[in-house]
Amino acid sequence: MRILVTGGAGYIGSHVVRLLLEHGHDVWVYDNLSRGHRQAVPADRLIVADLAEKERLDQVLVLQRVDAVMHFAAWCHVDESVREPAKYYQNNVVNTLNLMDCLRRHRIRRFVFSSTAATYGVPEQVPITEETPQRPINPYGAGKLAVERALADYATAYGWGYAALRYFNAAGASPDGRIGEHHEPETHLIPLVLMTALGQRPHVAIYGTDYPTPDGTCIRDYVHVDDLAEAHLRALERLEPGKGWCYNVGIGRGYSVREVIRAAEEVTGRPIPVVAADRRPGDPPVLVASSEKIQRELGWRPGYTDLRAIIETAWTWHRSHPRGYR
Ligand code: UDP
Repeated sequence: MRILVTGGAGYIGSHVVRLLLEHGHDVWVYDNLSRGHRQAVPADRLIVADLAEKERLDQVLVLQRVDAVMHFAAWCHVDESVREPAKYYQNNVVNTLNLMDCLRRHRIRRFVFSSTAATYGVPEQVPITEETPQRPINPYGAGKLAVERALADYATAYGWGYAALRYFNAAGASPDGRIGEHHEPETHLIPLVLMTALGQRPHVAIYGTDYPTPDGTCIRDYVHVDDLAEAHLRALERLEPGKGWCYNVGIGRGYSVREVIRAAEEVTGRPIPVVAADRRPGDPPVLVASSEKIQRELGWRPGYTDLRAIIETAWTWHRSHPRGYR
């Protein structure tokens, strides 16, 4: 298939691009490189452009005769979304609708969407299934949910076949250490912990030590980025006109912030100093997936089920790329 991957030079996108190419798909990456990295994707597959540029998008869709779109391009920081909601609604909602409008005009109806566990807000029970009510508590989750709703309407009215994958916490890196996670500034827990192990930062701030969890710190479900990539490949194969599928993608096991830090100390063999800090706005205490539906319907299974193994791949990346892609 000819697949356009928006945001394909970003962390999750670049791992998906690699897997799609390995499976013989004809892949085009559409990325404005605002947070993505040129080095993360093959140079001859990269189109540097923004989703707000409708004419450019039109041109690309015609020239490359795209069959399907995987849409990763988005801002992805919960706390930033609380501080700057306008930025999030503009890029994650308006620009996505822009893209969807172009696709509609070109009669491209296959769409795989990067959604998020943040659409659930503070769930009433864990593990979270796809039927858990979606009540986001931050603009990041609210924007992603708005797009999910629009997609459901596009499926009904225009016959789109789509899948919305609700990621829990993407983690790790390609095990050969060639691509990995690099955000500027870095805000995600595992990279920050490993940068501290490398001596690049003095300590890790634990955001909240008084949550209603066994050790007082937030619990998340960390899923390996290559397993996430595999979920996209399967979702793509499953698309059917007029139908929408929503799947949680996580390993079904939660780890607290303190457990992540302890696991990283074991993997790296280095002490990781911590300081207790205030809660971060917009953070729910516990997010753990039931991924039973994607396992049953798409035959997806996480290859990495152990946090240490996931952190090991991230450690390989951080050690070999102490300055990320720079
Ligand atoms: N976290 C933390 N210190 C940090 C970064 C993150 O305690 O320096 C916590 C954060 O509050 C959350 C968990 O680690 O509970 C995972 O955060 P991350 O930003 O990696 O992913 P998110 O859950 O926001 O998608």
